[in-house]
Amino acid sequence: MSGICIICETDTHVRPLYKKNYREEDINEQIFSARRLPDRIHANVVRCEKCGLVFASPLVDPSLLSGLYEKSVYTYGNEETYIAKTYARYLKKLAQRMDTHTKPWSYLDIGCGNGFMLTAAKEAGFEHVYGCEPSHHAIEQADPSIRHFIKQGMFSAELFQNQRFDAVSCFQTLDHIPDPRAFVRECLKVLKPGGYVLFINHNIASLAARILGERCPMIDIEHTYLHTPETMRTLFSKEGFTEIDVFSVRNDYPLHYWAHLVPGPKKMKQKTLAFLKNSPIGQMIIPLYPGNIGFIGRKPLA
Ligand SMILES: [Zn+2]
Repeated sequence: MSGICIICETDTHVRPLYKKNYREEDINEQIFSARRLPDRIHANVVRCEKCGLVFASPLVDPSLLSGLYEKSVYTYGNEETYIAKTYARYLKKLAQRMDTHTKPWSYLDIGCGNGFMLTAAKEAGFEHVYGCEPSHHAIEQADPSIRHFIKQGMFSAELFQNQRFDAVSCFQTLDHIPDPRAFVRECLKVLKPGGYVLFINHNIASLAARILGERCPMIDIEHTYLHTPETMRTLFSKEGFTEIDVFSVRNDYPLHYWAHLVPGPKKMKQKTLAFLKNSPIGQMIIPLYPGNIGFIGRKPLA
């Protein structure tokens, strides 16, 4: 019994991929913080050979996950600027698609951390910006001008009562969701008719993922479901999204940040990272397509 694929709705093609490699007592809040050093701890991982979806089976207890995310410590640090620039490029792409007659636009970022994308969204032309984030610590780090537009909690339409949005974004969060189909339905609920979603998350069919295998940072205890461009398309179209566009995401990061993502012996890696962080070469901006999927979809008008 390997678990049901949520895309194919059967376990017929699901095969074991990697065996769970941690003990329950090793789980702590640090593990669930964003941007820690990849440590290759993961649950039992399986793959559906038909559609390519990779997922944890059995799933880590969702109540345990939400409790840990609430307490998790926010550690993006200096990389935030580069991450914001990358995501902002795609927010602008989204804004270009949208009908200016529907302005002023309201925007929601799910899993917004300290809300750094709310500021970027304003610059991209979204007048009313909101966020949703489970980590108290992350919200405390938010700029006072946007902090009270961030709702604390795991995302659900209920959290926003009758509030509806012209656009919803979700950056590197879908991979962490215990029930992605229910999550996509909740996104649909908070959108106005004709509203758009923008998702960016890992691509498990990418070259990096295929080369690194179990050593790939995507294979991680935090990740419940890992998608391919095709499974993204199917996931959203099954729930009624239209005008779907799936694309590769270009990230412009400094060399020391790329180095942080490459697996290697811990001591050597720490030394290399310390050197790169303090040298001009480490600050060089390198544009790469590291294996992220971009996704835009639209809620039907009627
Ligand atoms: Zn499948």
